[in-house]
Amino acid sequence: MTDPRRHIPRTDAVLADPRLVKAVARIGYPLVKKAVVDAQQRARTGEIPPESIVEAAVDALPRHASGLRPVLNATGILVHTNLGRAPLSAAAVDAVAAAAGVTNVEFDLRTGQRAPRGRGALEALAAAVPTAGGVHVVNNNAAALLLVALALAGDGREIVISRGELVEIGDGFRIPELLACTGAKLREVGATNRCRPDDYADAINERTAFVLKVHPSNFLVSGFTREVGVSELAGLGVPIVADVGSGLLRPHPLLPDEPDVATALAEGAALVTASGDKLLGGPQAGLLFGAADLVHRLRRHPAARALRVDKLTLAALEATLRGPLPPVPAMLIGSRSDLFGRAEKLASELRESGISAVPVQTEAAVGGGGAPGVRLPSAAVSLPARFTAALRAGEPPVVGRTDKDRCLLDLSTVDAAQDKVVAAAVRAAAVT
Ligand SMILES: *Cc1c(COP(=O)(O)O)cnc(C)c1O
Repeated sequence: MTDPRRHIPRTDAVLADPRLVKAVARIGYPLVKKAVVDAQQRARTGEIPPESIVEAAVDALPRHASGLRPVLNATGILVHTNLGRAPLSAAAVDAVAAAAGVTNVEFDLRTGQRAPRGRGALEALAAAVPTAGGVHVVNNNAAALLLVALALAGDGREIVISRGELVEIGDGFRIPELLACTGAKLREVGATNRCRPDDYADAINERTAFVLKVHPSNFLVSGFTREVGVSELAGLGVPIVADVGSGLLRPHPLLPDEPDVATALAEGAALVTASGDKLLGGPQAGLLFGAADLVHRLRRHPAARALRVDKLTLAALEATLRGPLPPVPAMLIGSRSDLFGRAEKLASELRESGISAVPVQTEAAVGGGGAPGVRLPSAAVSLPARFTAALRAGEPPVVGRTDKDRCLLDLSTVDAAQDKVVAAAVRAAAVT
């Protein structure tokens, strides 16, 4: 008699609610229908009454047609790979929005003719590293290495590389395998911890395409170690390709051990590759700098077309290079002295709401494959461990880290203007 299934309104009847009609126009039919079907299911199981189905579906609607949501990074890891690496600067976000529609990415508005693709971004890149004879942009640093290997050694010639630099980048992908899949032959030299100039010199022959220096950006080897720098290799008579990784364009005072593009070129590298979304603080991209003729060869290689970046990347990259300092480099040089004060203030406000919050000294890290040994003095709000999961489930999700049974919200990676958002998120998580 009281079977709740008999009172479940039909899907099309629910979808006729004006709020859901509007939602279909905003995020599309499939996502709205899924919210409705899920709400009907909850009513069938008795979790909600049938008359709440519309309300429940409206509440469950995703805000966007994409599942990617803005997240607050309170991990203390400046470049967090799982959180999309570098957040873009406001200038870059603006540029992406402007380029997202119809845009002049390959069109000269003055002449009405086809124009070189992404000229603005390439000019900005060249201006940022004036000593580079040529510059090019591909999808990411892995693509940059792939293109270099294909163009210079894909015919089976040899790439000489130190055994200490056979790096796994992440997610199981390894640079030696990436190079080998182009048809190039790897010629490993030296030992894991030590490599000498002679090791390289002995390995070079008429089949050598280039010597590759890969910055071990996500691990440290310490103790009895020796590596050979670009300047020591420059006299070997073959091109030196340097993968500097992090995308520092010039030396950084806080990161003395992190290689940079300008220095690698000055030391004699023929080509330098780097990521756009690490310490440069821009979009995912592979940046290539070097001798004009080599860069030209890369640009005209058939595979270049498969590795080329889209208008959104070009827009974000140009604005990153020309605009104000993006968040990642800004966080790196930002004052660390006020972090503990912010943590104290936040914690005391939260204690007033009855939450067990205390300020603690912590260490932040660059992360994301850069400056692996560098620890940055930082401060966090320490909360009971259960907050880690509760905050992730909030809106916006706040991602902290669990350390010794405490949930730490590290403020190095939180803009001071967002402290209020963090406080509100913690209060909301406390009552869930
Ligand atoms: C991060 C990194 C890569 C991979 O770069 P992606 O842009 O993620 O493809 C390659 N080499 C080094 C040294 C790196 O640090």
